[in-house]
Amino acid sequence: MLTFNLRLAAAPVAPSHLQYALAFSVQGTVPGIDVTLTFPGDASGTSLLALPAGLGGGGAYPNITSLRAASPRTAITDTDKPQVKRLTYPAGQPVSIAYRVIVTDAGQQMELSYSPEIERDHFSILGYQLFALPTGDADRPLAVETAWNSLPAGWTLADSHGVRQPYQAFSATPRTLQDSVWAAGGYRLLHTLIRGKPFYVAVRGEWPTPDAQILAAFSKIVGAERKFWHDDNFAYYIVVLNPQEGDEVGMSFPTSFYEAVPSKEGLGFMTQNILAHESFHAWLPKRIMPTATIATSGWFYEGFTVYYARLFQLRAGLISPQKYADDCNEVIRAYTSSPFRNISGPRFRYEAEHGFSDSRILMVAYQRGDLLAQHWNAQIRLVSHGQHSLDDVMLDLLRLAQAEHRPLQISDLVRVMRHYLHRDVSGDIQRYTEQGQTISPDPSALGPGATLVPTPTILFDLGYSSSGSLHLGKITGVETASNAYRAGLRDGQSYLDADFKNGDPAKEAHITVKDQAGQRVISYHPAGKTVLMPQYKLKPGIPNTLSASWFGIVQAPSH
Ligand SMILES: [Zn+2]
Repeated sequence: MLTFNLRLAAAPVAPSHLQYALAFSVQGTVPGIDVTLTFPGDASGTSLLALPAGLGGGGAYPNITSLRAASPRTAITDTDKPQVKRLTYPAGQPVSIAYRVIVTDAGQQMELSYSPEIERDHFSILGYQLFALPTGDADRPLAVETAWNSLPAGWTLADSHGVRQPYQAFSATPRTLQDSVWAAGGYRLLHTLIRGKPFYVAVRGEWPTPDAQILAAFSKIVGAERKFWHDDNFAYYIVVLNPQEGDEVGMSFPTSFYEAVPSKEGLGFMTQNILAHESFHAWLPKRIMPTATIATSGWFYEGFTVYYARLFQLRAGLISPQKYADDCNEVIRAYTSSPFRNISGPRFRYEAEHGFSDSRILMVAYQRGDLLAQHWNAQIRLVSHGQHSLDDVMLDLLRLAQAEHRPLQISDLVRVMRHYLHRDVSGDIQRYTEQGQTISPDPSALGPGATLVPTPTILFDLGYSSSGSLHLGKITGVETASNAYRAGLRDGQSYLDADFKNGDPAKEAHITVKDQAGQRVISYHPAGKTVLMPQYKLKPGIPNTLSASWFGIVQAPSH
């Protein structure tokens, strides 16, 4: 019995109080963030530590340098996982380790990029990329302290827990600490109240839209979403908005999100759409199904978020019905021409667990959910003679999650859907997300103001294998009947860079390659054959009120 107790006491217990001392500095010419982590060592004298890591690739990734023990008689050794280190120290002693985070250019364009920025005049970095954490249950409660020392004069610190607070103490879990954003230097801090709650935007760089206009549009969208959910339980919320060169990126965290868009876009559909999307994630999945993963239910929470991000912009008057239809049409084009549109549930889950081998596989989840949301919404409106819509399903799901204090599952969606649709949608889910059958767009999805018309459409065709070439570092899979081939792209050329918009045949692709003839940029339109594709067309002369009620737009009372 005694032995048993002793062994229990000696079993490693993951520490629950973590102190991070952080400092920005430039060493030589390289800017970086120095981190010292201190935690109470346990009775076993051993802890496993996971180093910060990149996420889903990136044009640049965080690099951990100068890892060292900073407490007496503490040793750091490797384990079979490169990201995990073993710490040994005198039992019960406080343990400190130190390391420096710098940004290394991956030298290759990756398909998904969540690049940290650590530059001389600013940094913006995600929790994943900054904090080393003892391994163990990702949802255990932690007491966390962060102390930023010697930030350059005039730098504003803005992060998921507060603004201008170099010292912070907060409770978190390993997961929520990783799901955070930290930015300082060169940011303009915009502040407003949304329905009485503080809302910040930290923005950097030159934008064609004045800051005040960005803040006004953001608070309009976020306010409309909070009103929709009848939920203002946001003590603090911040958006970190970065300009960047490549594709747009958004990541959503419990009290914040990070958005990077080409700043030349200004406050256009792309910038607003990412905002509406990431902000909607505060409820779906975070407050409705917080344990959901992209593998098991991504089609639902991502696809429905795509649907609502578009709809909230329309409801807020920030886009026209034409733009709404255009975006639906773009999704139909991307989905119909995707070589992965019929991917099965098991293959999708395999891809999700092994890192998507092609970003178009991930996008199929978004497209399926969006098309199903539009279809089910139209059916509910039909069955209920306009009394109900998908909105009721969403609100019921939030109420259910809150009343039962549990993360919901797809089976809960099926149950709530049955209440409004009087049929079982699990057959739809099985057919379209498990077997991978093609989803036809619903002709009535855009209400009485639009029809679905077969329209000659040019398919997007890059003419070579993007992911294969990225993987090999050489061009591969060039089709001889493609514009890429006609422009001079050949198998075997060194693959240096690629600039194209996935799914958009009208935007010229620029592929940088190198072969015996030297380095050059090959430019062409990634356009393939023309096919007839269903596309929504707005009917002329339909009274505005009809469409407005279909989309749930509240009309200003007429006097
Ligand atoms: Zn999303």
